[in-house]
Amino acid sequence: MITAHARAVFGTNEPFKATTIQRRDLSAKDVLIEIKYCGICHSDLHHVRGEWREETFPLIPGHEIAGVVLEIGSEVTKYNVGDRVGVGCMVDSCRECKHCQNGEEQYCIKGNTMTYGAIDRFGERTHGGYSTHMVVTEDFVLRIPDSIALDVAAPLLCAGITTYSPLHHWGAGPGKKVAVVGLGGLGHMAVKIAHAMGAEVTVLSHSLAKKDDGLRLGADHFFATSDAETFKKLAGSLDLIVNTVSAKVDLNAFLSLLNVDGVLVNVGAPAEPLSVNAFTLILKRRSFAGSVIGGIRETQEMLDFCAQHNIGPDIEVIAADAIDGAYERVLKSDVRYRFVIDISTMATK
Ligand code: NAP
Ligand code: ZN
Ligand code: ZN
Repeated sequence: MITAHARAVFGTNEPFKATTIQRRDLSAKDVLIEIKYCGICHSDLHHVRGEWREETFPLIPGHEIAGVVLEIGSEVTKYNVGDRVGVGCMVDSCRECKHCQNGEEQYCIKGNTMTYGAIDRFGERTHGGYSTHMVVTEDFVLRIPDSIALDVAAPLLCAGITTYSPLHHWGAGPGKKVAVVGLGGLGHMAVKIAHAMGAEVTVLSHSLAKKDDGLRLGADHFFATSDAETFKKLAGSLDLIVNTVSAKVDLNAFLSLLNVDGVLVNVGAPAEPLSVNAFTLILKRRSFAGSVIGGIRETQEMLDFCAQHNIGPDIEVIAADAIDGAYERVLKSDVRYRFVIDISTMATK
């Protein structure tokens, strides 16, 4: 067993505490990763705050993981010691169902194994990247391109792929008018990626406070959703809207901004139900859709796309002892635009 230092919560909404955990010994296809950086995703907050389900404690979040391979199992072929690698939201899946075979492990019929808070095929509880080391089967490890620094790479493993996948699936590109609702961790990556794909990008933020940032990140237009004029001005004009807001929003107001055949895809995951007025959909053949992260193959494609287009998240690197404070700022929509934990700051505690 490998002892890893970690930061855990021991109850709903409790502060993080230093702890140690055991990682399994390497089996033939496993890779031992020394974690260097881990991003803070709003999903981590949903879990820690008990907003999605009843959690089992201790809970060690983190699914935006970047590090270096420290050791490989006897049958590992894809990675060598010293390689720069990442791990996202999944660490395993059945590998046999049609979705796994199709490279969309996130839609595994038997349910993929989430990086933390799940039970893996060995019957052990999974623990995430707020820790110094982790052991993962090589098929769920990503290669980080040389041109992307590890701290910048970390958030791509969730925020990057969660926005890349629907933008790619629904054809964001030249001639498409794409709007992003919410300029947080996911939202700011959606803006950068949609811009790099060649789409005309609009940000819909709750105020104009982040307008300069939004335009700098690649948006062509920026509007405040608190201003009723925004909904009049943009009515029926958009092809694709990606909603990244972590709280309940008025979906019908956003749906009304879509042109005929337009799609509103929800990646934001508030606990409360969202309601849709049928007429908002039927009168313009609009669609309301959802999307969860992306498959392993597509995640690698996204990393290579970001390297090719020289894009990555805007990050604020923090020490392990600053996680609670960072959570407070995420809750106030005061993240610019992703907190990333420097894991070297937890090794000695
Ligand atoms: P984040 O960094 O906190 O960003 C969310 C943004 O939404 C905020 O910056 C803010 O943008 C806006 N917002 C927050 N609260 C709001 C409210 N009450 N009313 C209106 N706007 C509000 O969060 P994130 O890490 O990007 O995650 C966003 C959501 O996506 C979370 O629910 C998360 O769990 C979910 N998620 C889903 C997937 C998936 O696979 N589908 C993957 C990762 C995360 P403005 O200041 O611009 O308004
Ligand atoms: Zn996430
Ligand atoms: Zn499967």
